[in-house]
Amino acid sequence: MLLLRSAILTRPFFYSETEKILSVEGVKMEQVARRYGTPLYVYSSEHILERLALFEQAFSVVPHLVCYAVKANSTLAILKMLAQKGCGFDVVSGGELERVLAVDRAAAERVVFSGVGKTASEMDLALRAGILVFNVEGEEELELLAERAAKLRGKARFALRVNPDVFAETHPYISTGMREHKFGIDIRRARAVYRKGGKYLEPAGVSVHIGSQIRSADPFGAAAERVVRLIADLRQDGHAIRYADLGGGLGVEYHPDKAFDAAEKVRQYAEALIPPVQKAGGLTLLLEPGRFLVAQAGALLARVLYVKKNGAKTFVITDAAMNDLIRPALYQAYHEIVPVQKPRSARKTIVDVVGPVCETGDFLARDRELPTLRQGDLVAILDAGAYGMSLASNYNTRPRPAEVLVRGRRAQLIRRRESMHDMLQTERNGSPF
Ligand SMILES: *Cc1c(COP(=O)(O)O)cnc(C)c1O
Repeated sequence: MLLLRSAILTRPFFYSETEKILSVEGVKMEQVARRYGTPLYVYSSEHILERLALFEQAFSVVPHLVCYAVKANSTLAILKMLAQKGCGFDVVSGGELERVLAVDRAAAERVVFSGVGKTASEMDLALRAGILVFNVEGEEELELLAERAAKLRGKARFALRVNPDVFAETHPYISTGMREHKFGIDIRRARAVYRKGGKYLEPAGVSVHIGSQIRSADPFGAAAERVVRLIADLRQDGHAIRYADLGGGLGVEYHPDKAFDAAEKVRQYAEALIPPVQKAGGLTLLLEPGRFLVAQAGALLARVLYVKKNGAKTFVITDAAMNDLIRPALYQAYHEIVPVQKPRSARKTIVDVVGPVCETGDFLARDRELPTLRQGDLVAILDAGAYGMSLASNYNTRPRPAEVLVRGRRAQLIRRRESMHDMLQTERNGSPF
């Protein structure tokens, strides 16, 4: 069955047979763009749920909880859909926790709280909500957590986020598991930190997160081995460790010409993680996938404003820019771009696809061979479901895009386009002195 469905498991956007228009779950992108305007994020709900189901299947042999990494795409409708499936959540701020609580207060018990700079008020919020576990990243943070728990007369369950010193091949900005990174506590020091403890702290787990967009299962396996070894030591020290949180970071393939089988990827990932966890015994495995669940479910639709030649270069200027999707500018990320109307001619041009923002770094693609595009054409920037909208900004006073979720052949607006009023309302207009 999985093989038959492999098409949707890779990418849910296809050209419809008859009209040759890019569609998702039977909904045509031309129609949603006309209805809701551009730039516009469009997501396939079916695809997100399929990806979640892949995780559930692959890890079904061990007690586990998938905690979706909210920062990948924190739009409420997406969180709601995942919460309804019993999914847990990994949050990295009080704001993200508030989002989870807004869609489902009861989901608090499935929340893990990560991040290197938790404030006292964020801790209080999470303690009051009764989250599952704090992933603590430093000794001072652990002391503050004990203080806050004492104040609220509660006990804080925590896992230390250890830094396993594992190298993972990815972009340097999203590699996090080596000694020189700001994340976590040196795994060699962890045992001593757990010993400090205190009556307001309950050591419940160990966590790691070695980075993002990691394509090979090997570094995950290596990190899991190190975590499990530490857990054995901690149990010897008398701590009842129940959770192994092995983080997120499983990558997807953004290049269309490279083979990518999502089901196979998850299977390999599970094969690397499950044996060490089973060997340790008595553990619930926590997983924090973000990108893998939502990246390929989403596309950013944009309209071509102008096509212009400067010297030897051709620029396709779209109404989507780096403030809408910053990944190309920030990580030199590749996003496949396709015209919404399937081109009739085979003619191609090498172009830069850029936005209207006043930065040379404002590009969506560079030196890309694309079907010849003209003013007014619609294009889709694919694989934009993760770290797209959640990283969008108002730079150049551009309103952030609207978002649409497709489910059962229907397109639902899940976030309206920002208005000028939205953008100005927090500011003071008038002479401040
Ligand atoms: C960002 C992050 C994740 C999710 O990473 P993906 O690459 O999107 O899967 C998981 N856990 C932590 C602690 C993170 O910071």
